[in-house]
Amino acid sequence: MEPLVAAIDQGTSSTRFLVFNAKTAELICHHQVEINQSFPKEGWVEEDPREIMQSVYECMERTCEKLCQLNISVSNIKAVGVTNQRETTLVWDKETGEPLYNAIVWLDLRTQSTVERLINKAPGRNKNHLKHKTGLPISTYFSAVKLRWLLDNVDEIQEAMLDGRAMFGTVDSWIIWCLTGGRNGGVHCTDVSNASRTMLFNIHSMDWDPELCRYFDVPMEILPKVRSSSEIYGCMKSGSLAGVPISGCLGDQSAALVGQMCFKEGQAKNTYGTGCFLLRNTGTKPVMSEHGLLTTVAYKMGKDEPACYALEGSVAIAGAVVRWLKDNMGIVQSSSEIEKLAAAAGSSYGCYFVPAFSGLYAPYWEPSARGIICGLTQFTNRNHLAFAALEAVCFQTREILDAMNQDSGVPLTQLQVDGGMTSNRLLMQLQADILCMPVVRPTMSETTALGAAMAAGAAEGVQVWTLSPDQLPHVTSEKYEPQINSDESEFRFGRWKKAVQKAMNWET
Ligand code: ADP
Repeated sequence: MEPLVAAIDQGTSSTRFLVFNAKTAELICHHQVEINQSFPKEGWVEEDPREIMQSVYECMERTCEKLCQLNISVSNIKAVGVTNQRETTLVWDKETGEPLYNAIVWLDLRTQSTVERLINKAPGRNKNHLKHKTGLPISTYFSAVKLRWLLDNVDEIQEAMLDGRAMFGTVDSWIIWCLTGGRNGGVHCTDVSNASRTMLFNIHSMDWDPELCRYFDVPMEILPKVRSSSEIYGCMKSGSLAGVPISGCLGDQSAALVGQMCFKEGQAKNTYGTGCFLLRNTGTKPVMSEHGLLTTVAYKMGKDEPACYALEGSVAIAGAVVRWLKDNMGIVQSSSEIEKLAAAAGSSYGCYFVPAFSGLYAPYWEPSARGIICGLTQFTNRNHLAFAALEAVCFQTREILDAMNQDSGVPLTQLQVDGGMTSNRLLMQLQADILCMPVVRPTMSETTALGAAMAAGAAEGVQVWTLSPDQLPHVTSEKYEPQINSDESEFRFGRWKKAVQKAMNWET
């Protein structure tokens, strides 16, 4: 039996555990569990860290059972990788092993007033004041301000910090700490790709930055140790996989970049999940954007390997608008049903939907923007709304792709895509139409998990997977060609941009 490598993919909407053949990249089996989100106040988004861990354990055990049903021994799994929703912020007690508050999800807006205060204080009110070190604008999106909120507002966290019991981490750190033993010797670490989303990490020196920590008043003792994306962090302490090394760790968007085999400078992918994230590999040098994109650490495939960087266009709301139409509006019963409704409309008939539920991210970085639906007539029905929601995802991608092309000077000629939403064929066709370029989707859409599994399998001491470009497995794909003329798509994009201006200035 060829070696197998597994990945835990802990996303915003669900947790998955997947097992791959390390030679062919074939997906052998998997299990998925949805994650509840709570919205305790307007703009707040939380998840329960205990539920996250339960979902991880459940997915691992169910998948191991499925593997046994296939007559494959679990002992063939040689390593496990972790990939996760990024920026989501947790603090837990290292003595009890218990979380001290819910996880504050990346989309959360509770820190908007803190962010506005920090920007007003910055020289020239420049939101990019810390970008030279972090690659990021000051925004509600990143972990530092969320951690600041936790330290200021949760008494248990204050006390634990003073007692030296508090541990901070993003979701990767929480999962690895729990799986490697938790309060009985768990490993407190993160990888460079996740660390680079906290705003406490210097993307040049590749370590926590004392000046940034002072700026956000964050004690450095509570931070995890920063490791590469591919090395043995520790071993599973219990369950069917006890003893198996955990040897890959990548933020979800970095993992998708790896899973799409974008190892060369200039290669890019766009992932459509809760949000939508276009990353382009810029090689071993960080490139600063002039057009509202982030500079982020893509991966570092081993302790002694160089770090690779990416330019990133982040869109907060993509699949989340579909979930909103389902959960809040009851327009559809399931996310996949939206395709049928949108197809029945065939057009939005002049209706534009800007889902700026968490402000607007790239390229605007405007936390005060709010969602709007405009261009309604008596004729508009839920089908048009469904179409406008899908079109919004495509327009937002067009905006970040344009920014990416302007920054790099070498335009992309086709878009490689993946993520939960890409099973929606209408969305894929609309995307090709609005970009006026082909959209290419791998047949095996679990590229995020594949990337984490590849990092784990390639780690020193495991080495069952090669990352050398000439030996990478062949991945089959399907291609969507544009079917409308560019005048039509420019017209619709122009209308969208007007709607965005209204979403940004809705109060004035
Ligand atoms: P994440 O990694 O952020 O948890 P996934 O890649 O699992 O996200 O994708 C889930 C998101 O995609 C959800 O927001 C869901 O509403 C949306 N989604 C899933 N299937 C479809 C579909 N067929 N059409 C439109 N949206 C979909």
